[in-house]
Amino acid sequence: MVGGLVCFDAIEKHALDRNIPVMQKEGIEFLIDTFQQHQCKSCLEIGSAIGYSSMMMVSNIDSFVVETIEIDEARYQEAQKNIKDYQLEDKIFIHLDDALEFDCNNRVFKSYDCLFIDAAKAQYQKFFEKYIPFLKEDGICIVDNLDFHGMIYDIDNIKNRNTKQLVKKIKRFKDWIFDHDAYSVEYYPIGDGICVIKRR
Ligand code: SAH
Ligand code: MG
Repeated sequence: MVGGLVCFDAIEKHALDRNIPVMQKEGIEFLIDTFQQHQCKSCLEIGSAIGYSSMMMVSNIDSFVVETIEIDEARYQEAQKNIKDYQLEDKIFIHLDDALEFDCNNRVFKSYDCLFIDAAKAQYQKFFEKYIPFLKEDGICIVDNLDFHGMIYDIDNIKNRNTKQLVKKIKRFKDWIFDHDAYSVEYYPIGDGICVIKRR
């Protein structure tokens, strides 16, 4: 337990040992606090990896459910196994698909209190635009990894061309959402940078 949280340290460690980018504890604690403040009971997550973040959410918030989408088959299988091992099948619903291709008619839930975007960083705007219609009117959208290890503030000095392109795309999303008339955005320098987006 960290700060009274139910944790899955073995799963977390096993992921980190293989460079699977699971959310840091600090970020998870922030998510859980934010969900509790907003009385969120359901979340649509883009990017399940091995199920760690969804398991943390449903195990630390009463009557909470997560629907989550993962593109990588091996990670999806491992997530399924983890969910089953901890008997969380009635709280976590996982789909194997590219979230940009996923047929939204196959959703388990009609709408969500939270949309949590934690997948391919270059596609954040596309994920946002595709899934925001399923967010409840007063729901919140949380986006992780918006700083990219601080590089977003120093793009000119990034030497690697691919990294530079990626960081530019993250910055483009950040600028786009901050300037958007329909949404208000709060930024938190937690972990790798987290935004909480609400409809105005
Ligand atoms: N939320 C997880 C970590 C997710 S890591 C946790 O904290 O435990 C990001 C995941 O997004 C990776 O597993 C990657 O395979 C997945 N991903 C990347 N692009 C995707 C897409 N287009 N659709 C669905 N999943 C995607
Ligand atoms: Mg992340």
